Amino acid sequence: MTGTRFEFATAGRIMAGAGRVAELPEVLAGLGSRVLVCTGANPARHAGLLATLGLPTAVLEVAAEPTVELARAGVAAAREHGADVVVAIGGGSVIDAGKAVAMLLGNGGDPLDYLEVIGSGRAINQPAVPCVAVPTTAGTGAEVTANAVLASPEHRLKASLRSPLMVPRVALVDPQLTVSCPPPVTAASGLDALTQCLEPLVSPRASPLTDGLASEGLRRAAAGLRAAYANGEDLAARADMATCALLGGMALANAKLGAVHGLAGVIGGIADVPHGIACATLLAPVIDANVHALRSGPAGHPALDRYARAARLLTGEPAASVQDGLAWIRQTLTLLAVPGLAAFGIRPQHADEIAAKALTSSSMQGNPVALSHGDLKAILERAL
Ligand SMILES: [Zn+2]
Repeated sequence: MTGTRFEFATAGRIMAGAGRVAELPEVLAGLGSRVLVCTGANPARHAGLLATLGLPTAVLEVAAEPTVELARAGVAAAREHGADVVVAIGGGSVIDAGKAVAMLLGNGGDPLDYLEVIGSGRAINQPAVPCVAVPTTAGTGAEVTANAVLASPEHRLKASLRSPLMVPRVALVDPQLTVSCPPPVTAASGLDALTQCLEPLVSPRASPLTDGLASEGLRRAAAGLRAAYANGEDLAARADMATCALLGGMALANAKLGAVHGLAGVIGGIADVPHGIACATLLAPVIDANVHALRSGPAGHPALDRYARAARLLTGEPAASVQDGLAWIRQTLTLLAVPGLAAFGIRPQHADEIAAKALTSSSMQGNPVALSHGDLKAILERAL
């Protein structure tokens, strides 16, 4: 994992900084003439911004995590409007919906033709129509990743559409847009961003480039997460978290994730748990299980050093151990009032099904050590 032979793909343009959302009309002027705007449940929130675009727009409301059905509806609305560019203004769900619609407009067909795991796995080989991603939460990093997660209620599963051609053409990251995030959303999205830096750092697919991104992302999370939760108006903390999310997205797109995301993806398919909360509850139990498994194997696995590096970055203590890092994470979960999975209806009897499905998820490929079905069940029981 420390080799010099690696690949790193990034296709989009990244524009970051407070106030830069005002540049959206100029960005769009070069990309298309009729716009499909994807927003959250309250499009009126962005009415002022949309009025400045000066282009005919249709709006797709993404009120919850997107489904296969919503992606189909988005494509139909875009075709009816004659949209040639997609703007997604919102959290990870909204951006994923925008990316899915943009890909389907470029490639034709149905989401199930392309979805991993539950679909036919057809290759995505045509460019998506241009998509401009404008995140209003600091979490998923969807503005720079190559996949979009769709839920299929009929399969009780979430799966990804994935292709380098799905990286948004422009990521317009303005931390001022996250200032109005309520504390529970700041907690959930911020803990997702933190996890998305940690998992690539310990992944067998890590490279010098993803190491740099993930390490800086953890440093930003340490500086900004608790502060942004305590005071949403703290723009420096908001900027740290927006940067953390961006760095995590670039790191995960190139180094994969791990068991936290393998399990969280499955949990999200069977219960209405915010993705970041699922990650947060699983984080410490997964680190514990991974470190235990790594220490039981051949001596000196490089992921052990990486967990210690993460602990140093999170605590700011040059001598911090993995245990100190775990203590910092647990303390943060308490400060941010993160509930356990039981609060969302997950029960011990669900552990078997969740563990079995998680074993085959694509995120598991980035876990530093193979975990058994029994290991995953034990992790889940600790996250309740
Ligand atoms: Zn995530």
